[in-house]
Amino acid sequence: MKQPNILFIMSDDHASHAISSYGSVINHTPNIDRIAEGGIRFDNCFCTNSICAPSRATILTGVYNHINGVKTLDDHLDGTMMNFPKLLQQAGYETAIIGKWHLGHGGNSDPTGFHYWNVLPDQGDYFDPEFIEMGKTKRINGYVTDIITAMSIDWIKKRDKNKPFMLMCHHKAPHRSWLPSPKYADLYKDADIPEPPTFHDDYSTRAEAARAARMRIGRDLLKKDVKGEPPQNSSPGQIKSWNYQRYIKDYLRCVASIDESVGLLLDTLQDEEIWNNTIVVYTSDQGFFLGDHGWFDKRFMYEESLRMPLLIQYPQEIKAGSVSRDMVLNVDFAATFLEAAGVAVPEEMQGRSMRPVWSGHTPPDWRTSMYYRYWMHLDKEHSVYSHYGIRTHDYKLIYYYADALGTTGSLDERKPAEWELFDLKKDPCEMNNVYGAAEYASVIALLKQELLALQLAVKDVPYETDEGERFA
Ligand code: CA
Repeated sequence: MKQPNILFIMSDDHASHAISSYGSVINHTPNIDRIAEGGIRFDNCFCTNSICAPSRATILTGVYNHINGVKTLDDHLDGTMMNFPKLLQQAGYETAIIGKWHLGHGGNSDPTGFHYWNVLPDQGDYFDPEFIEMGKTKRINGYVTDIITAMSIDWIKKRDKNKPFMLMCHHKAPHRSWLPSPKYADLYKDADIPEPPTFHDDYSTRAEAARAARMRIGRDLLKKDVKGEPPQNSSPGQIKSWNYQRYIKDYLRCVASIDESVGLLLDTLQDEEIWNNTIVVYTSDQGFFLGDHGWFDKRFMYEESLRMPLLIQYPQEIKAGSVSRDMVLNVDFAATFLEAAGVAVPEEMQGRSMRPVWSGHTPPDWRTSMYYRYWMHLDKEHSVYSHYGIRTHDYKLIYYYADALGTTGSLDERKPAEWELFDLKKDPCEMNNVYGAAEYASVIALLKQELLALQLAVKDVPYETDEGERFA
């Protein structure tokens, strides 16, 4: 078998409910949809820790954050660790990463495993951004999404055509603060974007963690996010709606540039006549609250933030227009690309190749539950409590242990531990925490057992207080 090329396109904070092939009611993404139409849409792809750096580290290394050490936004990836690009290099691939890196710079933190790298420092800028090209800093005029796209196309065209390639095209957009390209500045100008059904969530049945989070559209968006002030004498409800329109329109305008980028990249594969032998992936490092539960941002194990968009096209193995409900995770990506390239997956990688899943041959022992952990306790801006939990196809059990445990970027202030249980079949929007309801007692007992088993299987440890008290 000829080794396939891999074009991995990842945006930052692009929730699947802002992609039309996932049924978005707020925008259209005709080019991203081309990947879904020509390949497979995964409806249950989840991240294992819903923030940027940790998800990126997991994708590269194929292990969970307690193993690769990138538990929070303030941790850097140790570039001497094993990662899948290094293994592809050894197997004869030409590899590159262009765009957002966000895993530290200098020392051991620069990208490793890439013949070519040209990345934004930290978050990078939307306009006239600096790039670090193989260690050298250079400012480039223009809009960041367009620049990353042009660089990626240029790299594909100039690649060594005797070798298969793996390119990671990592967009900054649509990350906060949302600055759209002038080209899309007037998109949605006269439109009123619908508010999501959970926009007025009052968190009444939920853990204190939900009430304590500082991610509210009406209260916590800053002037720089909404670029202006609501009309004078607006009520709190009017301010919330006004903020939402300002926020979501700029977010979707940023997405419009991403969609255009995907179209140009797909056209390039056609022009280069490598369409048939290239695995094209579109994903984002995690999901995002698009006004859902009255929030922006991510971090929580709730659906909108946990779910990653994942669309993959590979004509040789994936039937056009496929949809999968099997549970796949960001920790699976590395193993998947290695297996598709005919490279043995190292023992220490904790994910599983989704290749049989994409070709419609899901193994009978494929996972039916997943483990999640958010470590960054009470980070200074969003104040989300640290938590871990399990999601099955039917339920989600979350344990807010609410302790920093010495992690970077966390506030060392313990909060009372709490549980949440959601019956996803009855309550897909997670509005009603049923933890403690008598009819769920046996479900809870089983989920706790399975949570512990998952946690131990990935070599993580349950939370234990200084007094030796564990969850029960
Ligand atoms: Ca992100």
